[in-house]
Amino acid sequence: MISSKQTVSTYAVMLGGGTLETMELSAAQAEGFECLICKAQCSTGAEAFVPVGRIPSVGSVFQCVACSGGAR
Ligand SMILES: [Zn+2]
Repeated sequence: MISSKQTVSTYAVMLGGGTLETMELSAAQAEGFECLICKAQCSTGAEAFVPVGRIPSVGSVFQCVACSGGAR
């Protein structure tokens, strides 16, 4: 968790399926630094995170592999 980026705001997130969903996210989550679910921090091992959508004019949002139900 990035303590300096924990201000929570409401964002309209465009999910992968083309659904627009309103979510309350910290700045770190919205800017793609943290997992949307568990707030694990994206590291340089980018393959551990999968993009799940994007916030127009902000950036892409991610989940870690554990939360996305991907790898074991
Ligand atoms: Zn996670």
